Amino acid sequence: MTDNCPKCGLPKDICVCKTIAREEQKIEVRISTRRFGKEVTVVDGLDDQDLDIRDLESKLKSKLACGGTSKDGTIELQGNHMRRIKDVLVSLGFEEDLIEVKN
Ligand SMILES: [Zn+2]
Repeated sequence: MTDNCPKCGLPKDICVCKTIAREEQKIEVRISTRRFGKEVTVVDGLDDQDLDIRDLESKLKSKLACGGTSKDGTIELQGNHMRRIKDVLVSLGFEEDLIEVKN
């Protein structure tokens, strides 16, 4: 484990990624591939100052009927949920315009 930001690689105390994310209030969803070709749906850019990420994680897991983890403003959900994730996030109160789904 390091104390460097996974996005920019800078030490977390000088990294501004979180500040930028908070100003933009944008959620980014993408697919990442894990070991053995398993896909996970990554929900990134969440502001852990303003919202309870563990609570959001459990709601997403129950709505999408999957497993998952959360860490440092990022939620990882097992499986590919690109088709439904935006609707589910909107149903949980997020602004549709601020959710960017990357393919
Ligand atoms: Zn950073």
